[in-house]
Amino acid sequence: MYPQTREAALERWSAFLPAAVEYATHRQLVVPGHPHVSRLSPALRLRLVTEEEILASLLAAHPLASVEQLVREILWRTYWKSCLEQRPSIWRWYRARVAALRPAAGPRVASITAAESGVAIMDYFTRELIDTGWLHNHARLWFAAWWIHVERLPWELGADFFLRHLLDGDPASNTLSWRWVAGLHTPGKSYLVRRSNLEKYIDPALLAEHAAGLDALDDDRAQAAPLPDEPLFPWEPVPPAAVDPGHLPDPWGLWIHGDDLAVETHPRLTGLKPRAAAAILSRPLCESFALSERRWRHLRSGLLEGVTRIAAHFRCAADFELGPPLAAGLAAWARAHRLQTVVTMRPFAGPLADELPAVEAALRAEGVSLICLQRPYDATLLPLARGGFFPFYEKAREALRLDAGPG
Ligand SMILES: Cc1cc2nc3c(=O)[nH]c(=O)nc-3n(C[C@H](O)[C@H](O)[C@H](O)COP(=O)(O)OP(=O)(O)OC[C@H]3O[C@@H](n4cnc5c(N)ncnc54)[C@H](O)[C@@H]3O)c2cc1C
Repeated sequence: MYPQTREAALERWSAFLPAAVEYATHRQLVVPGHPHVSRLSPALRLRLVTEEEILASLLAAHPLASVEQLVREILWRTYWKSCLEQRPSIWRWYRARVAALRPAAGPRVASITAAESGVAIMDYFTRELIDTGWLHNHARLWFAAWWIHVERLPWELGADFFLRHLLDGDPASNTLSWRWVAGLHTPGKSYLVRRSNLEKYIDPALLAEHAAGLDALDDDRAQAAPLPDEPLFPWEPVPPAAVDPGHLPDPWGLWIHGDDLAVETHPRLTGLKPRAAAAILSRPLCESFALSERRWRHLRSGLLEGVTRIAAHFRCAADFELGPPLAAGLAAWARAHRLQTVVTMRPFAGPLADELPAVEAALRAEGVSLICLQRPYDATLLPLARGGFFPFYEKAREALRLDAGPG
């Protein structure tokens, strides 16, 4: 159901393009099969396709005015990235809280995550999440609001539950959306779940089938949970892109990872020739996040397809390693190919960026330097968020020259 190759992702997007003009009208409807939204997020998460590519094809097919809602939603992804890149301590704080809270999570967390909460529609969403690895945006909002404001459970444990199961599980979009629902992102603003809202947007037959326990969501019960105490999270500058890859010490290799599986489209790599490309799926890293089997398989097929395609593009050797710790695995690979330099796309704030110091040290011990590249899209947009989404959107719209039309 969710594309696992670049080709399938591009096909999915092309097939969705004609419906993009209807997106603003229907995108909030939760109906089985989810025909009104693209369901491209698992592919975007791995960057099997890039935000830049889908924006370009969208605006080549339609005038901005007729698809602006969809453009905005795509830029929400970049907005969350921009926020977390500039405040990575939010991510570290959240992970530390998950580690502290998880052992004492309690029976209510256990029954909700086992789809036995007694609120049938939420149990339906839980089963959909576990069985498919995906949820509609509205279902995510309702579920998170119910978890935080009705069940009064810690937002961090809910975000962790999503991150483990969502095929698009993303450190920025997921963590910061949960914080937004909780009222921690925009001071004074939280998102509440109301029965009337579910009745308006969920397919009537689906809701009728899962009506048990709905009274827990009656409108007159909606009340925001108190905000938890937190430290201040400082704003930090986005790490700059590294050297011009035109001057790479030879021989060099490409480390391919799940934050960017369309490396061959990076304009600065055109015409260059790595000796080898490698992707490593680190079992210890996946285990430390307790990723679901479904999520793990999605990542594995994405990485395998990515490294195979990218190596074919550059006509170099492809290596796919399943299991070893990232740093040790990359050091062994660099040694085997006698590399001087390893080039990669700079990972975003999250698990891979947390691994970078260890990767850098392990490569350095082999006499190998690590160079991180950044896409022009990221270099331009990641520093732009400074407050809410709409000022960011205005700046992004100008920086990307969205009003100028195709070409
Ligand atoms: C509590 C919560 C947790 C979330 N966790 C994640 C997550 O881990 N990963 C993730 O990619 N998205 C997350 N989202 C955002 C959003 O729900 C999904 O991106 C969207 O539902 C994906 O479906 P789609 O591909 O059909 O999107 P479409 O509606 O077709 O939109 C196209 C693309 O735009 C981006 N997009 C759309 N809406 C949003 C949004 N609200 N925020 C950020 N990007 C958006 C996505 O990349 C999406 O693929 C979360 C939202 C909430 C409320």
